[in-house]
Amino acid sequence: MEEGYPERLLLRMLEIYSPSGQEGEIGRFLAQEMEKLGYKVKVDSIGNVEGRIGSGRPKFLLCGHMDTVEGFLEVKRRGKVVFGRGAVDAKSPLAALICAGKRYIEDGGKGEVVALAVVDEEGKSRGMRHFLSNLSEVFDFAIFGEPSSAYGVTVGYKGRLVFTVTIRTSPGHASAPRFFENAIYVGADLVGRLRMLDEEWEKSEDLFKAPTLCITLIRGGTQDNTVPGICEITADVRVPPGSSPKSLKETVQQLVEEFKSGRERAEISIEFKDENEPFEEDPGSPLVGAFLESIREISGKEGRLLKKSGTSDVNDFVRVSRTHSIVYGPGNSKLDHTPVENVSIEEFYDSIEIIKRAMIRLDGFF
Ligand SMILES: [Zn+2]
Repeated sequence: MEEGYPERLLLRMLEIYSPSGQEGEIGRFLAQEMEKLGYKVKVDSIGNVEGRIGSGRPKFLLCGHMDTVEGFLEVKRRGKVVFGRGAVDAKSPLAALICAGKRYIEDGGKGEVVALAVVDEEGKSRGMRHFLSNLSEVFDFAIFGEPSSAYGVTVGYKGRLVFTVTIRTSPGHASAPRFFENAIYVGADLVGRLRMLDEEWEKSEDLFKAPTLCITLIRGGTQDNTVPGICEITADVRVPPGSSPKSLKETVQQLVEEFKSGRERAEISIEFKDENEPFEEDPGSPLVGAFLESIREISGKEGRLLKKSGTSDVNDFVRVSRTHSIVYGPGNSKLDHTPVENVSIEEFYDSIEIIKRAMIRLDGFF
């Protein structure tokens, strides 16, 4: 790989604006670049770009997302720092994975690398879900590109569950409210119950181990002179490792059933929507160990293990494939989605070296 190539690749990726749903141009660009690096490239029907290099085992999946949140940011370099939309989430992690895969092969890595750049991670994960629906191969290790800083490794994400409760009553004239059941009042009582459930959950000392529930949307009523006949309440539940969307669904379902009793004048139904399993990698696994040793070698410091309350494509991947996986990449995730996304070039280069060295270490297990 040419001197300075990773930096040039990253800058050009930042210049191509690619919010979710508009990944066509960056996909074509990455397909071209990966081909130049020696990857065998194919683009699937949803727009994911997949490049393969090397053969044999271990077989690595290096996966990052091409899309960003909305809002183009001017791409600029100030000293040793690069600014632009996606500098942190997650174009520098993706660029680092593509470059590290190539370097691994150049340095005699004996396995196979599948570099996968997916669409729509910030949207509905359509890219990863499409990839998984056709998945027939087995990977030994997977590295997902999201900012953990070059000197940390993410080993856990919470799962997620979304549900909507709909309350229907028969509407009536607002001048005679006591003759009618007000769907919004019933909804307000339910909000109180759900809030208590969350407070109970959040009593736990370790927030990563506790489920959380947040009411995120309320819609109710139809006109300003009518006792409301409808109220919809939506909540976002985060599922810690050790728990599952299924068991939290049962808890919520039970709460709603109990709430229904004595409220026969209201028709109350619950609908569960999007769900993700939690993700947690064993901190003692060879994959985590290889990264921690490489971080120590490059930085002279102990790597940090991170657990996050968000979710990402790795949650879906691990549920289907059961592959040892971590989430890793340069950048400070506190800058995700902000107008000041930026990454240090030195950290970006360190991350490439750390990924490559970790991969070479993992060769030793085969
Ligand atoms: Zn991301």
